[in-house]
Amino acid sequence: MYQSSKPRGDSPVSIIGAGIAGAWHALLFAQAGHAVTVHERSDAGMTESTSHFAGGMLAPWCEAEASEPVIGRLGMRSLDLWRQHFPQTPFNGSLVVAHARDRADFERFAKLTTNHRRLDARALTELEPALEGRFRDALFYPDEGHVEPRRVLPELHARIAQAGGTIEFNSDVDAGDLGGIVIDCRGLAARDTQADLRGVKGEMIVVETPEVALSRPVRLIHPRFPLYVIPRGDGRFMLGATSIESEDTGVSVRSALELLGAAYAVHPAFAEARIVEFGSGLRPAFPDNLPRISIEQERIAVNGLYRHGFLLAPALAELTLGYVARGVIDNEVMRCA
Ligand SMILES: Cc1cc2nc3c(=O)[nH]c(=O)nc-3n(C[C@H](O)[C@H](O)[C@H](O)COP(=O)(O)OP(=O)(O)OC[C@H]3O[C@@H](n4cnc5c(N)ncnc54)[C@H](O)[C@@H]3O)c2cc1C
Repeated sequence: MYQSSKPRGDSPVSIIGAGIAGAWHALLFAQAGHAVTVHERSDAGMTESTSHFAGGMLAPWCEAEASEPVIGRLGMRSLDLWRQHFPQTPFNGSLVVAHARDRADFERFAKLTTNHRRLDARALTELEPALEGRFRDALFYPDEGHVEPRRVLPELHARIAQAGGTIEFNSDVDAGDLGGIVIDCRGLAARDTQADLRGVKGEMIVVETPEVALSRPVRLIHPRFPLYVIPRGDGRFMLGATSIESEDTGVSVRSALELLGAAYAVHPAFAEARIVEFGSGLRPAFPDNLPRISIEQERIAVNGLYRHGFLLAPALAELTLGYVARGVIDNEVMRCA
């Protein structure tokens, strides 16, 4: 890290996009005393954001299986910020399980990740009684957490207002029309200025059943992408998520079969669950799948959060604030024009 010439710390701040990146930026900047206005083209339901469809897992150790060390570094800092700002966030860990036929991949996952404990069938039952008799063993990542995006986004928006910031919904703006410091958190819509962004499709299904009770996310090892079941409360579960190099936003029959099959493999009572929603979102990603804070004087763009938006947004917002307040550059994620 080094110091750079920075924008004026007392300038008003406009943030474009109230998804998870924009919301965390707005919160930290408003709390630091900036006059913050967030512009969001969607209404308060946020259905035009990728964040609306996310799992909300805060899982830096599990994600290390397929991501660079910087994701772990920022992810762990984010966990501290989630804990500090949202102390009610459940940090009761996550589980990884596998079918007998995927044993080799399970052992590989265990080798590539850290901060986990191996549970035998009995210990697994003690932790999640609903999984009794389902799996020979499991990996338990005790320090991981999860949030429900559709609850936490409105909470973040309310906190921004409490901190003195303003959110304008149904406000589709052009960065060129705004003065002061502008932080562009438009996700995939920022492709007009960040041409190397691409969308990576993630499909999800929400089901409802009173027959299964889980307290934490359960990942099922799968040869093509990580499948998981996340409890949402009130008998609802999110099944996610595919990872497909496509910008189509539908849900294919094949993906639906795989997601529903994963739920059924975790617990056969999911066979009788009611399907509540099929959905998909496009994860904004750069070619290296790493997040980027691009700085051009008072114009800052935060993007490429890919499959880690909830995990990374707090730490990225803190870095952007550190740059504006003190000129500190993080060489791993910042690019200065
Ligand atoms: C199925 C699925 C599961 C996922 N699971 C996880 C997970 O478990 N954990 C995790 O950390 N991440 C997860 N992700 C990834 C995460 O959802 C993304 O990284 C994150 O949502 C990206 O956030 P963002 O704020 O950059 O973009 P977005 O959420 O898309 O927000 C951008 C916002 O900008 C607004 N906007 C665009 N243009 C304009 C304009 N001109 N004016 C005003 N507003 C504008 C849009 O309406 C949108 O609301 C998942 C993603 C998917 C699809």
